[in-house]
Amino acid sequence: MRADETKCVGCHRCEALCPTGAITIRRNPSDFRDNALWTPWHIKNIYKQAATGGVLLTGMGNPCPYPIYWDRILLDASQVTNPSIDPLREPMELRTYLGAKPDAIEVINGDELKTAFTPQIPIEYPLLFSAMSYGSINLNIHCGLARAAEEMGILYNTGEGGLHPSLYKYGKNTIVQCASGRFGVHRDYLNAGVAIEIKVGQGAKPGIGGHLPGEKIGPEISLTRMIPEGTDALSPAPHHDIYSIEDLRQLIYALKEATDYQKLVFVKIAAVHNSAAIASGMVRAGADVITLDGFRGGTGAAPTMIRDNVGIPIELALASVDERLRQEGIRNQASLIVAGGIRCSADVVKALALGADAVYIATAALIAVGCTICQRCYTGKCPWGIATNDPYLAKRINPEIAHEKLANLIRAWGHEIQEMLGGMGINALESLRGNREKLRGIGLNEMELQILGIKHAGA
Ligand code: SF4
Repeated sequence: MRADETKCVGCHRCEALCPTGAITIRRNPSDFRDNALWTPWHIKNIYKQAATGGVLLTGMGNPCPYPIYWDRILLDASQVTNPSIDPLREPMELRTYLGAKPDAIEVINGDELKTAFTPQIPIEYPLLFSAMSYGSINLNIHCGLARAAEEMGILYNTGEGGLHPSLYKYGKNTIVQCASGRFGVHRDYLNAGVAIEIKVGQGAKPGIGGHLPGEKIGPEISLTRMIPEGTDALSPAPHHDIYSIEDLRQLIYALKEATDYQKLVFVKIAAVHNSAAIASGMVRAGADVITLDGFRGGTGAAPTMIRDNVGIPIELALASVDERLRQEGIRNQASLIVAGGIRCSADVVKALALGADAVYIATAALIAVGCTICQRCYTGKCPWGIATNDPYLAKRINPEIAHEKLANLIRAWGHEIQEMLGGMGINALESLRGNREKLRGIGLNEMELQILGIKHAGA
């Protein structure tokens, strides 16, 4: 058998499946002369654009070597006083309630709660599967996500592609998304889940819309998106009915009205330069949950220049949003969920200590079912059967196995979160949320420490 090296995308599938372990995939060394300015990446991109006249496309998240603040933050641990807690022997509370909380609780007649609560969603772990649309990924993966969310008592998110009829039964673990294209949005869809997420922006491509090419719109996807087969699904960059915070408020309340005030409304934005002011407006507009998506967030397809050059790290956006909402006295009026490049349970614990209520994961979930971050999602030919609707490739994902792996990932991170909490002498997430005293920076400058609101290690 002869290999055609020009077609290798580095998916490592042949390596993983080779029965004798004889295959190793290595990057082909470039024969361009060393040049710190004109790297092989830049040169090859210019060749491509000179040949096609098109925008460079890519998939998954930003791979550029910007600072990863999670790796510059360290956690505390108890020693002599305030002893640590053993999570194997003592109860450890990971349950989180999403939704607006009152600033104070009034009790009458001894034990009767007088304060009225808006709807709350309990999740058993501070983790949710982030929005990935049916179309960008296939039904086998959506099914695996829905079943894992049900088993673990958490939520998954439909993304902007509507909800396949076979998944309505997972409603109590579903967030339905309402994006600028309004694909698949109708009354039953809005009422199908426990929450509705208005997607204003996405971390991988802030400020621009989306495009699912017509060749991917087969009969099933056409049905859920409510568009004709073979037509391009183009999401506009803005919502054409939102040009101000007042417009956003109208949409939030239109959705609450349509669902009899029983569903939480999330609003998702990309982490950008003035996220804190935007988030403040979103809370005042009535959002129950603010979702912040950092520039490391993945995507099925994005222009390379946007993905790699627009947006800000989620760590900085989270710290500044939490701080601003606290200063304004409105932090309790909405939950805060962050997304975009959360890689492990330690990132989750640091995000919670910086002020998040919970964390969305998507790339990590795809890695759990085989993704190797080859960044070819935009081609629709995912070798692992994930970001594809090609029936030949999609059958490489078994929903039952995907369900098992995704549930295991959540379970494993849950154990690790409990261990880290116990090590800090904390027995409930409530005591960790926004507790920046449990964090120390390492190798960060004054400005970075100030934005993160943490001390340097040793201080
Ligand atoms: S989802 Fe598939 S195509 Fe996309 S990065 Fe992962 S393995 Fe590659």
